[in-house]
Amino acid sequence: MCPDMTETETPPTEAETRCGYFAIIGAPNAGKSTLLNRLAGTKLAIVTPKVQTTRARIIGIAMSGPVQLIFVDTPGIFSPKRRLDRAMVRAAWTGADDADEIVVLVDPLRGRGGEPDDDTLTIVERLKSSKRRAVLALNKVDAVPRESLLKLAARLDSEGVFERIFMISGKTGSGVDDVVAWLAARAPVGPWLYPEDQAGEIPERQLAAEIVREKAFLKLHDELPYEATVETEKWEERKDGSVRIEATIYVRRDGQKAIVLGKGGLQIKAIGGSARVELEALLERRVHLFLFVKVRENWLDDPERYREMGLEWGK
Ligand code: GDP
Ligand code: MG
Repeated sequence: MCPDMTETETPPTEAETRCGYFAIIGAPNAGKSTLLNRLAGTKLAIVTPKVQTTRARIIGIAMSGPVQLIFVDTPGIFSPKRRLDRAMVRAAWTGADDADEIVVLVDPLRGRGGEPDDDTLTIVERLKSSKRRAVLALNKVDAVPRESLLKLAARLDSEGVFERIFMISGKTGSGVDDVVAWLAARAPVGPWLYPEDQAGEIPERQLAAEIVREKAFLKLHDELPYEATVETEKWEERKDGSVRIEATIYVRRDGQKAIVLGKGGLQIKAIGGSARVELEALLERRVHLFLFVKVRENWLDDPERYREMGLEWGK
C-alpha cells in the first residue's frame, strides 16, 4: 500500500456503472410519495393524508456509489371502479412491469391485527398471477407496534412472492438505507440515465400544479372531492429572473367552486400563499402565482385531461 496514494475523484467509467429502475407500488396512502421524497432527498411527490394524491408517474433518483437507482412513484393500486381510477391503476402496473425490481409498500395500520389490507392482497394476487417476485417494505414502523409488524411480515411471507422483507419508515428514514443497498446490489450494469446530481424528474409545470393541489387538499380537507384537478395554464419567465405562473383549479360543481374560493376569496388566497412559498423554495426564485377556479363538469370523460396528467385514456 503506497502511503501517499489518495482516493481519486474521477467518476466511474461506463463499464463500472450500474443503473436500476425500481417501481414503488402499494395501496393508496401506504406512504409511497413520502418514501420517494426520502430516497431522492428532496420533495418531488406531494404527500397528503388524503388518499389518491399522486396522479401520474414521478421519478426519484438516488445514488449509491457506482449505482444509480431510479425510483418511480406510482398512483396507489386499488380496486378501480371509474375510468379515472382504472387509468391510474393501469399506469401503476405499467410502471411495475417495466421495473428491475418491484417494491411493495404496505401501511400496517390499515389491516387489522397483523392482517394485510385488501388492496395489498390484490397486489399480491396480481404478482402471483404474473409470476413476478417483489420486495416487501412494511412502512410506518415509527407508528406501528412491533408485534403486529412481525405478524404481518410472517403472514405476507407465506404468500411466497417476496424475496426479502424490510421494515422501514419513509417518514423518519429508518431502514431505508438497507432497502437502497439491497436494490443497488441488484441493479444491472449500464450507464446512468440521469446526471449524477439530479434528484428526480417532474416537469416544472406539473410540479406547480401538484403543489397547488396539495395545498388545496390540505386546506379544504374532505370538502374538496379528490377528483378536483389543477392545471398550469401559463408559465412566463420574466426578465428579472422571476416566473409568473397561472394555474386553474378545476372542480365539478358550483358549490365546490364556492368552497375553494372561500368567503371573500380568503380560502384561495391562503392556498395560493402557501403554494407560492413552497414553489419559490423548490424553484429557487421568485414566483408570482395566480390561481383561478373553474367548473368543468365532464372532465372525467375527456381524453385530453388524462393526457395532461400523463395518464392513458382507456376503458
Ligand atoms: P401514498 O398515497 O402512498 O403516496 O402516501 P403518502 O406518501 O402521500 O402518505 C400518506 C400518509 O401517510 C401521509 O399522511 C404521510 O405523512 C403518512 N406517512 C407516510 N410515511 C409514513 C411513515 O413512515 N410513518 C408515519 N407515521 N406516517 C407516514
Ligand atoms: Mg402518493
